[in-house]
Amino acid sequence: MRMASLGSGSKGNSLIISARKGAHCTCIMLDCGFGIRETERRLARNGISPSDLSAIVLTHEHGDHAGGAFRFAQRHRLPIWMSAGTFQALEGRETNVEVSFCHDGEPFSIGDMQLIPFTVPHNAREPLQFCITDGNHKLGVLTDTGRLTAHLCAALKGCSTLMIECNHDVDMLEKSSYPSSLKQRIRGEWGHLSNDDTVTLLKEISHPRLKKVVGAHVSQQSNTYACVQATLENAVNQYGSEVVVATQEEGFGWLNMD
Ligand SMILES: [Zn+2]
Ligand SMILES: [Zn+2]
Repeated sequence: MRMASLGSGSKGNSLIISARKGAHCTCIMLDCGFGIRETERRLARNGISPSDLSAIVLTHEHGDHAGGAFRFAQRHRLPIWMSAGTFQALEGRETNVEVSFCHDGEPFSIGDMQLIPFTVPHNAREPLQFCITDGNHKLGVLTDTGRLTAHLCAALKGCSTLMIECNHDVDMLEKSSYPSSLKQRIRGEWGHLSNDDTVTLLKEISHPRLKKVVGAHVSQQSNTYACVQATLENAVNQYGSEVVVATQEEGFGWLNMD
């Protein structure tokens, strides 16, 4: 299994995950937060054609995750998976696209991949994040989460690769030029995870077979990529896991999970 990010942050998110079984390849797009042309351009940068994709999976309705989904899916005839709440929140934008619903704790399959959705606290209708496995590797993805819950910690146990939100540094957010209402929303229970939150989470769920950790959804106003890299390296130092940081412009190139 391998993955590549088309970009990650408040201006747009999209992650490509691909699994090969014999001659058959399953490739999914987790979130589609860029416009059609931009998504196509970013796919091409990673050597992916839209026709390589099997489906789009959405975490929640916010524009930086779902903004391009229906138009891209319609243009390239792709089915979309999402929660019923996300679908309701996006109502009116739906076009001629096949939509399937997924639910917290209920695994479903796309080709040779199994996805296990889990609920997170975030200011959206029914946000889900996902663990994805091909039977050999387990990838856990967690962004757009206001606080850590026992439920999400349990869901992310035993992952060989983790992509976790490191949205803000608490002090940098405090000193940023954001209005205080926005600061409150970001650090609130339904907002985003800070670097400190992510370290707390890693203390709880990291283990000797955790091979890779990716920092994601990093704020360009109240965090730095260098700070996230150093924080994560320090947090998984004892296991020697590889650390990568996803950027808004570049995301990251193909990352093998074995
Ligand atoms: Zn977001
Ligand atoms: Zn969001």
